[in-house]
Amino acid sequence: MNLINKEKKLANIILKELWPLHRSITGKGLRQSLDIIKKYIPIKKTEVPSGKKVHDWIIPKEWVVNDGYLIDPIGKRILDVKVNNLHLLNYSSKFIGEIDKEDLKDHLYTNPKVPHAIPYVTSYYEKRWGFCLSHNDMKKLIPGKYKVNIDTEFINGSLSFGEGYLKGSSKKEILISTHICHPSMANDQLSGAISSILLYRRLSKIKKRKYSVRFLFLPETIGSIAYLSIKGKELRNNLIAGLVCVLTGGKGPMNYRRSRQYSSLIDRSAIKALEEWKQENNSDQLPEITEFNPAFGNDQRQYCSPKYNLPIGCLTNTSNTKTDEYHSSLDNLDNLSVDGILDNLDVYQNIIYIVSNNKTFITLKGYGEPFLTKYDLYPTLNNIKLDINNKDLRAALLWVLNYSDGTNDLLKISERSKIKFSNICVASKVARLNKLIK
Ligand code: ZN
Repeated sequence: MNLINKEKKLANIILKELWPLHRSITGKGLRQSLDIIKKYIPIKKTEVPSGKKVHDWIIPKEWVVNDGYLIDPIGKRILDVKVNNLHLLNYSSKFIGEIDKEDLKDHLYTNPKVPHAIPYVTSYYEKRWGFCLSHNDMKKLIPGKYKVNIDTEFINGSLSFGEGYLKGSSKKEILISTHICHPSMANDQLSGAISSILLYRRLSKIKKRKYSVRFLFLPETIGSIAYLSIKGKELRNNLIAGLVCVLTGGKGPMNYRRSRQYSSLIDRSAIKALEEWKQENNSDQLPEITEFNPAFGNDQRQYCSPKYNLPIGCLTNTSNTKTDEYHSSLDNLDNLSVDGILDNLDVYQNIIYIVSNNKTFITLKGYGEPFLTKYDLYPTLNNIKLDINNKDLRAALLWVLNYSDGTNDLLKISERSKIKFSNICVASKVARLNKLIK
């Protein structure tokens, strides 16, 4: 079985395991999810106690769900959390009692714009109880008295996150961060975990890694804030580049959201990698490049908060526009594209390759072109060092020799020449071996 098929198979296995768990920003479902991830890549679990102050926030109490359902006036059990965990308002407080249909309505959440979907609604920081259901189903509710059985608790526990680390030869690192707090939703959320696991496994096979790569699996917002409050300083000192890895299982187009820094190494590398992907795949889908958005944009909002301002972008395989599937029961495994995850994964891997291999050289010649025949670098003979029949490589060499003046990094040369970064990189190695640049 080739790598892609192996990865596809593995992705489907992990998806099935993670899918049914009732996740939230704290609690059992989150912990179980981390345990599943741990079966596939080594991660360390950290627990941050409830009540701990993390920057401007406080770790909330842990949410425990014992049961959650409604009995309608004719005695039928409906909106059962055991049937679909989206039915219970995430972080719902406890309520056990009888209520008239008219009063019950204040506790029902629907999305009339997508009337056949159950919306995913949360109330983490405001005590509420409630159920979520499709707008169509709400209209079918019969008049009368309903029995509510929401048996939940808030306990002093902790918030959990998982951390994987691939050591490189340098302490400087690349961060891949994904959130793992939504209940059963496929693209908005499980896809990021799958991409991160597969990326870890691919990178772990590379023998010489320059930078270390850190992988975070945490609940959105509060998790990244907690992480930053514990390890933000270290991250600020060591981070070269990072990506928030979410929504990778859509049907495209790929979207790169820039870091707040706008044109840092991660931004340039991601845009370059997307261009190369488009060229190689003859894709007519134009990748989207969007701006960092403090009002819309997952954990980037924390990593790119002004006092951290980390070079962290976000790469998805899902357009930036909100779809009907967003935060609803339509975002399910049937609508998830595992092929999309794998396409997108190649771009992730290329970004890490570019970030890790970008360097700036200075020419040792430069008064006129070097006499390449002298170095056996011109296509008059076969040459083992440089595949001189590869036009791209030959051109790459000339670009590298010309632009290596100490101010242009390899990425810049690749951007200008539109030659693949990996060819520019090989050409620079050849030039260095021949003492044409340093
Ligand atoms: Zn979400």
